[in-house]
This record gives sequence, C-alpha cells and structure tokens, in this order.
Amino acid sequence: MADSTQTGTPAIQRVAFVTGASRGIGRAIALRLARPGVVGGGRAVALCARSAGPLEELKREIEAMGGTAAVFACDVSDAKALAGAIDACVSQMGRLDILVNNAGITKDGLVLRMSDEDWDAVLDTNLKSAFVACRAAARAMMKNRFGRIVNIGSTSGVVGNAGQANYAAAKAGLSGLTKSIARELGGKGITANVVAPGFIQTDMTEHLPADVKEKVTGMIAVGRLGTVEDIAEAVAYVSGEQSGFLTGQTIVVDGGMTMA
Ligand code: NAP
Repeated sequence: MADSTQTGTPAIQRVAFVTGASRGIGRAIALRLARPGVVGGGRAVALCARSAGPLEELKREIEAMGGTAAVFACDVSDAKALAGAIDACVSQMGRLDILVNNAGITKDGLVLRMSDEDWDAVLDTNLKSAFVACRAAARAMMKNRFGRIVNIGSTSGVVGNAGQANYAAAKAGLSGLTKSIARELGGKGITANVVAPGFIQTDMTEHLPADVKEKVTGMIAVGRLGTVEDIAEAVAYVSGEQSGFLTGQTIVVDGGMTMA
C-alpha cells in the first residue's frame, strides 16, 4: 500500500466510520482522524450517533479545516439501522477502511438491584452494536484487503467496577469479540484492537461528585484526568497505516491508573 513516509497518509483517501461522534471521545476521534497533514489524519470520516444536529455541525467543522465528512445518523442498538448506515457509507463514500465502535452508555446500579432492562440496554448499545458493525464493515474491508477496527472499551472491562456489572461485562465482551475478529481476519489485512480509556472528562463523567473526581485523580499516576484528545491520539495510532502488526490487543489509556 502506497504510504507517505512523512505523514503516514495513504495515497488513496481512507474512510473511517465513527460511532458516538456527536460529542465527547467520539467527536474528538472523528476530528483527529479527519485532520489533514498529521500522522493518522486526512481520513474521510462518516459520523454516526442518534442526534443528527451535532453531527451536521461537526461535519461543517471538519470541512472548514479542509477535511471530508458525511453524516449517517442512527441508533446503534437498532441492528438493522446500524448495518444500513454502514452500507450507506460504503456506497456513498466508496469504501470503508477504519471502523471505530465508540458509542456507549452507562446504566449503573448494584447487581442485586439491576433490572433486566438496564442490563439489556447497555449490552445492546455497547457490545452487540460492535458485533453488528464489525460484521457489516468486514465485508467492505475484505474487498480492499485492508481494515482497522477499533473498539472503545474501558478500564471497567479490564478490572471490573462495583456498580457497573452491565457496563463492565459489555466492555470485557468487546475484548473477546476483538480477539476473535483479529484471528479470523488478520490474514486479510484487517486488524482489530480495543482502546480502553480510564477516567476521561466528558458528559459521561461530568455528573460525578467533586470528591469522587478528586479521589480518582489521586489514583492516576500522571496526576490528572484524561482528555478526549488523549484517547483520539491512541485511536489514530492503532488505526494508522503503520499499525498492521498490532492486533488483538487491549490498549489501556488511563494515565497509569491501572497497571497489569
Ligand atoms: P458521551 O460523552 O456520553 O458520548 C456518548 C456518545 O455515544 C454520544 O455521541 C452519543 O450520541 C452516542 N450514543 C449513545 N447511545 C447511542 C446509540 N444508541 N446510538 C448511537 N449513538 C449513541 O460518552 P464518552 O465519555 O465520550 O464515551 C465514549 C466511549 O468511551 C463510550 O463507549 C464509553 O463507554 C467509553 N469510555 C468513556 C470513559 C470516560 O471516562 N468518559 C471511560 C472509559 C470508556 P447521541 O446521544 O447523539 O446518540
């Protein structure tokens, strides 16, 4: 595959599909992958989330910096709608090279009090959606014998977290899904990895009380909470042209909060 040694940008324009791109980590990932002139940047980006408004706004922002983007709004827990959005991306944008399964929700509660509905909602949005998207995207990637699948996990999925049995199970499940895909599709030029963020400042963590944030910060080796850009940088690396030998891994990006 032709590749500029200066920027890691391929001669052909790669297309990346990013779920949960309307805000937080997904928005930062989309901006990072689209940014022209940087290693792992210059990708055309397909933006997915339920709310079309913020995606249209992000599309304009990407175009203003010289990038390319398109909006494919859908609910990722609706398997048919998600597969349809990926098919539409392939037909409108001509190809699909990078899939970032980032959309996620939490519905926290202790196991004894957790409802079936809260279990199912988190598993459907955070895990089943990744399976559905990988299956749909793999077909397009196999055609080009190139693909980068990045599933956004969590340290909760690596070490568990009291009050998050559903979320931790979904995120740990992503690891098994990812390793299996890495084994099945590695010979076709497709890699699959998990990027597992620690405690990142977004809407998802915004509501936590100040004393909890302070306690968490005390557990982080680098002494600060993560930013969305910290995660976007890791995703740009694993989805890059040069990362073809990196597969089946869970890359924990948590400032040294958990260390294996
Ligand atoms: P966030 O700010 O709450 O954003 C979540 C994104 O997912 C939004 O774009 C949301 O858009 C989208 N989304 C949620 N449900 C969806 C659905 N059913 N269909 C389509 N899109 C949906 O979350 P975040 O903090 O950026 O987290 C992003 C990912 O990182 C998640 O997978 C999360 O588990 C993971 N993570 C976050 C942290 C952290 O500290 N923040 C730590 C570890 C892992 P709409 O509402 O418009 O649909």
